[in-house]
Amino acid sequence: MIVAPKIRGFICTTAHPTGCAKHVAEQIAVVKGRGPIAGAPKKVLVIGSSTGYGLSSRIAAAFGGNAATIGVFFEKPGEADRCGTAGWYNTAAFENEAKAAGLYARSFNGDAFSDAMKAEVIAAIKADLGQVDCVIYSLASPRRTHPKTGEVLKSVLKPIGQSYTNKNLNTGTGAVTEVTLESANEDEIAQTVAVMGGEDWEMWIDALLEAGVVAEGTQTVAYSYIGPELTWPIYKNGTIGRAKEDVERAQRALDAKLAPLGGKAWVSVNKALVTQASSAIPVVPLYISLLYKVMKAEGTHEDTIEQMDRMFRERLYNGANPQPDEVGRIRVDDWEMAPAVQKLVDDRWKIVNTENFGELGDFEGYQSSFLRLFGFGLSGVDYGADVDVGIGIPSVPAVA
Ligand code: NAD
Repeated sequence: MIVAPKIRGFICTTAHPTGCAKHVAEQIAVVKGRGPIAGAPKKVLVIGSSTGYGLSSRIAAAFGGNAATIGVFFEKPGEADRCGTAGWYNTAAFENEAKAAGLYARSFNGDAFSDAMKAEVIAAIKADLGQVDCVIYSLASPRRTHPKTGEVLKSVLKPIGQSYTNKNLNTGTGAVTEVTLESANEDEIAQTVAVMGGEDWEMWIDALLEAGVVAEGTQTVAYSYIGPELTWPIYKNGTIGRAKEDVERAQRALDAKLAPLGGKAWVSVNKALVTQASSAIPVVPLYISLLYKVMKAEGTHEDTIEQMDRMFRERLYNGANPQPDEVGRIRVDDWEMAPAVQKLVDDRWKIVNTENFGELGDFEGYQSSFLRLFGFGLSGVDYGADVDVGIGIPSVPAVA
């Protein structure tokens, strides 16, 4: 099949297997180019491992630290004439690369929120690895079926307390318009916390501890975002921010549970980047476009792989200093939040409009980053060639 991008709003409904494989290979090359990570963990579980920050975490652990990795994600395989999702193709490519490098890699496709998935992964750890020594939690999901109550909970991206109006980017046309978001009610806040908060991370670590598969000195990390004040009404002070506060609550609880093993739980605050999850947040794509322009000009722009490599290499392992902030979080958003960067973005935010956006924002960078998530626009890929969209992931059994 010849595969071209098909964009519907903030998602792309097609994905290119060869392009996704190239994207994974490019990320591996970044990590390898920086050399081995001393003291890196050897048996790493990544929950949410198929795209974005989780995929880059898995790549950094495997190709920087020679780790055996287990990945968990929710993706769709392709059929003879229908594309699978990018995360499916990314994982197929990751496993092939890992195998070629002599690294163990096993993947589980299904609902990470369920008890059944936790049990399946624990059985695999017992059978293949004995224990894990690092657990990365990188889920981003619009909904969660609660494993105890069966309730289907939905997350929303809304402000709290009052409605919020700000500039917004039409990511298809580059027009800068305005968006008004109504404030969330209590039930929407509670549901968002239940989906994107820390309860499921705790359930994973509790289950792993109970099964005795957590090694001495294990570190676990969940990801968060803070960003500048201009996004606070929709992010930090909005429904998603409430969920992230709950992730920090869970971090403190897990830190205490891991302490007897000499382990540690962290929240890492990462940079705003184009991912499938972030492109769905109002206001944020315009902020990201302005941010990319400033950080690229400064030479400090990073993508998920550079961020995750830096987290492993300079914060968590390699004899590194985690450099926790005043409440104990790892900050790899440090270059984004540098005052000089934020001053420029803020100045430009005030004046940006459809006419000057081409000059003030990195629209081309935003769009190309978005397309790359789905395997489009990578160099060396022949997009005119026929490609098999039905490829499998070596460790994931084909469904009958
Ligand atoms: P993403 O959409 O690229 O990745 C989400 C992952 O979760 C995928 O692997 C997906 O398959 C998996 N997933 C979703 N629902 C699942 C389910 N029910 N069961 C199993 N797997 C499931 O998202 P991302 O942007 O990389 O986000 C990961 C984390 O990083 C989130 O906590 C997010 O808040 C955080 N973060 C993102 C940014 C950003 O700008 N993108 C910045 C800072 C922090």
